[in-house]
Amino acid sequence: MIAKPEQARERARTILRDFGVKGVPVPIERIIKAKNIVLQYAPLDEDLSGMAYIKDGVGIIGVNALHHPNRQRFSAAHELAHHELHAEVIQKAVHVDKGFRVLLRDDVSSQGIDPLEIDANAFAAELLMPQEFLKSALDAGGLDLEDDAGIEALARKFRVSASAMRYRLAGRFQE
Ligand SMILES: [Zn+2]
Repeated sequence: MIAKPEQARERARTILRDFGVKGVPVPIERIIKAKNIVLQYAPLDEDLSGMAYIKDGVGIIGVNALHHPNRQRFSAAHELAHHELHAEVIQKAVHVDKGFRVLLRDDVSSQGIDPLEIDANAFAAELLMPQEFLKSALDAGGLDLEDDAGIEALARKFRVSASAMRYRLAGRFQE
C-alpha cells in the first residue's frame, strides 16, 4: 500500500462541504457522531493518542482523555480518517496510535513510513485546518508567525495544538 495524501485531503474537503462547515473551529465531534461512529474518551497511557476499530458492525473511536482537548481533536480526526479511508484494515484488528511522535517524520522514517498514518494525518490536518480557512486567517493579517505567540493564537482559533499548526504551516502534512 502506498500513501495517497492528496486523496485523503480531498476526502476531508468533501466532508467539510457535506457538513456545510463555514468556519473554524471545525465541529469534529458533530461530524463523527453524524457518521454513526461512537466516540469514546478514556484515560490511556500517555504515549497513546487514540484508536479506531469496528465492533459488531459499529465504528468506534477511542481518544486519550488525559491529553489536552485540542490534541484530542486531532486524535479524533486522525481516527476518523482510518474509518473513512481504511475501514477494511480496522475491520480486521484494532488500530492503536501512538502519540504525536507519529507526526515527526524523522522519527517515523526510522521505523519505515506507514502509509496509513501519512494519509490519516493528511486527512486530519485538512479537516481541522482546512486550506481555505487557513488562507483567510492568514490573509486577515495581524498574526506574527515568526513568533510563538502568533502560532499559538492561530492554533487556538482552529482549536488544534501549536505543534500541529506549526507542522501544517511548514507543509509537513503534505507528504
Ligand atoms: Zn493512525
